[in-house]
Amino acid sequence: MRVWIDQDLCTGDGLCVDHCPSVFTLLEDGIAYVVEAGRVLNDPGGSRSIAEVPARLERAVVESAEVCPGECIFIEVPVSAIGPGEADSGALPPSG
Ligand code: SF4
Repeated sequence: MRVWIDQDLCTGDGLCVDHCPSVFTLLEDGIAYVVEAGRVLNDPGGSRSIAEVPARLERAVVESAEVCPGECIFIEVPVSAIGPGEADSGALPPSG
């Protein structure tokens, strides 16, 4: 799973950081960014702003996206992780 944030839509409320501080952080500009292996990816709109999510954090990242008031957390799931017939539904694989 990979995740990125559209900073243009971020409200800066920090809910994502509350849910998953290992993957999300707020910077001095008051906007959230993704973190990968402890490194902040602050290249909005760039390919280097997409973070790989460790499996143990996937559920927390999904929950962050669900509560995000800006609806600006975007999750990419590999097609191989989606079962037959689910590719168009946006369904995520079961956790655990
Ligand atoms: S929850 Fe969404 S709107 Fe709030 S800080 Fe995180 S990315 Fe921004």
